[in-house]
Amino acid sequence: MTTMTAPVLDSHCDTPSQILRLRNIALDSDHSQVDLPKLKKGGVDASFFALYVPASMDSDSGFEYACRLYDGVADAVARNPEALAFAFSAEDILRNMERGLFSVCLGLENGEPLASAPSRLEDFYGKGVRYVTLCHSRDNSLCDSCAQGTTWHGLSPFGREMVRRMNSFGMMVDVSHISDEAFYDVLRVSSKPVVATHSCCRALARHPRNMTDAMIRDLASEGGVIQINFYPVFLDDGFRSVLHASGLEEKGESVENAFIARPWDESARSAWYKVLDELSALPRPSYKRIVDHIDHVVNLVGIDHVGLGSDFDGICVTPQGLDSVASFSLILEELSRRGYSQSDISKISGGNFLRVWAGNC
Ligand SMILES: [Zn+2]
Repeated sequence: MTTMTAPVLDSHCDTPSQILRLRNIALDSDHSQVDLPKLKKGGVDASFFALYVPASMDSDSGFEYACRLYDGVADAVARNPEALAFAFSAEDILRNMERGLFSVCLGLENGEPLASAPSRLEDFYGKGVRYVTLCHSRDNSLCDSCAQGTTWHGLSPFGREMVRRMNSFGMMVDVSHISDEAFYDVLRVSSKPVVATHSCCRALARHPRNMTDAMIRDLASEGGVIQINFYPVFLDDGFRSVLHASGLEEKGESVENAFIARPWDESARSAWYKVLDELSALPRPSYKRIVDHIDHVVNLVGIDHVGLGSDFDGICVTPQGLDSVASFSLILEELSRRGYSQSDISKISGGNFLRVWAGNC
């Protein structure tokens, strides 16, 4: 478990989207990757809940959607005062731990809502949002995405302005999802250390969402941190081929969209759950592959620049042995088995991220 000075922190999960799909997070639900009983079992003290705005939304509809996600989270916190509390700083997390409460921290995933009204950045901060993932799966008004990368060849002029504005009052800049060129622009513009809240190492899996060794070195030399994502596709090239060959990606997309459109519809829900079961039946990489990525970062840049950003509730398939946040502590046990000291493990499990957070304030 944890000590009072070393919270176990997950820097990215998509639970707000699941709340909008009528998930009651107080219940231990089948097919949920994050809920209160599972968080307790997994020994997690704090998670960043992402207000994830799909890349297909324009600035105003994205803003409206992010506010709906926020309202769902605020409602879940209000309904579970004996278990949950918001945390807007590292001190809040420690205070919540003393009271036996799990900390809900907030991030905005995709900065497009800022495009038509930049002062929304301060509004989000006021609601408790502490990082902005600049984009998602498409180039947006701030920068290029690693999934496209053809609009700006890096940050846009507006994206540069937003990075400086975030630096000015303590909003962290999240470089997950952005293109390699945009990443380097961020490092040039940002006066504060940056975070990759849910990214893996491209040396171990060639997906463009992952970071090259050179990027990880440069991120670390500026004091930043890469938080390893648990998605098997980002962990292992072999699984990426298996998934592709299964045809489940295409099939899953329409079934999931039907469920998102009608979350109250039992048949839409059970069709989606059936796809999730089929995905789980594929030969998946072990959760120990997450620790391979951690080892890689540690060998490259030392112990101070790596952590954990599960992406739970945003990934439709998980590593073997780590089906939900209930098994989170297995990663810490594996680190211990591989010879990491207790103080090293506490840096990886939250200390490094909290250092960067404090360095932004
Ligand atoms: Zn993401």
